Amino acid sequence: MPKAGSCLFKIGYFLYTRTRFGRYYHGKDVAKAREKYNEDGHTIIEPTMFDKLEITPIPVALDNYAYIVMDTESNTCVVIDVGDEEAIIRFLDRMNVTPAAVLTTHKHWDHSAGNAGMRQRYPGLRVYGGFGDCVPDVTHTLQDIEQVKFGMLNFTAIHTPGHTVGHVSYLLDGVSLGAPDCLFSGDHLFLGGCGRIFETPALKMLKSLDVVSRLKKDTLVWPGHEYALNNLEFACAVDPDNTEAQEKYEWAKQKRERRLTTCPTTIGDELKYNPFLRTDQESILKSLSLQSSDDLTMLVPPDDDNRARILEELRERKDNFKYIQ
Ligand SMILES: [Zn+2]
Repeated sequence: MPKAGSCLFKIGYFLYTRTRFGRYYHGKDVAKAREKYNEDGHTIIEPTMFDKLEITPIPVALDNYAYIVMDTESNTCVVIDVGDEEAIIRFLDRMNVTPAAVLTTHKHWDHSAGNAGMRQRYPGLRVYGGFGDCVPDVTHTLQDIEQVKFGMLNFTAIHTPGHTVGHVSYLLDGVSLGAPDCLFSGDHLFLGGCGRIFETPALKMLKSLDVVSRLKKDTLVWPGHEYALNNLEFACAVDPDNTEAQEKYEWAKQKRERRLTTCPTTIGDELKYNPFLRTDQESILKSLSLQSSDDLTMLVPPDDDNRARILEELRERKDNFKYIQ
């Protein structure tokens, strides 16, 4: 992939996000995944159950997740990020459920290409997306901190710009469902990583990461991709003395060998090893400086500007990182 910010990258990104070329390109990924995994997908489908809540990550394309979120008391169901409707409709048909809504985190096709197909299959279906992102085929646009409720499923849309300007993360209130709060973080926050910063300055992404890192520590995080192995390999390289990162990496390896999901993670765990949430940590600064010609230990105090500079440096290194696996 060309370097973010380069002219070639800007042209490619424009074509991907604003034209049918992006839709076509995503369709090729979906077809590739079907050839590779058949109907099974990249990960075995396995619901996580709570008192009155069931969350099922559905594998989409090569490494995306959509989520089926079910209030099991009233049988109300919401789907997050339909990158391809086929697997979702198959699952909902098997459960004999009609979804109440689709929530979309951002405009990229791998999170939204199935919106049109869902509306066709379920006439009158509400499809939500954040303002400012022009998500394809939405029926309702949400503002920052706007709430939407379906049965007992109470979501708050949190504007988390960075990956895209209008990216939204959805926080599900767990209290009435006998579950922890759940954050559907799209391409904002991943297990061990964060999304590429395509559309805003690093400072904006930093502030969006700060917003989610201040959520309750037991908040479950359900990201938009299965990126745990790559992310943790990078986390171990950039923070080599972090035993939490190493342990999580070993755990993720075992999960992925059996094609099991690494979702969910928690905000509390991410704060321990996710380098993108640790831009104020001396250990990160020291190790970045050791691996650089610049003395990054000068970037103190850890105020917002310095942390944004560190975030940028981390993101650039991650984009160019050579994975061994
Ligand atoms: Zn994206």
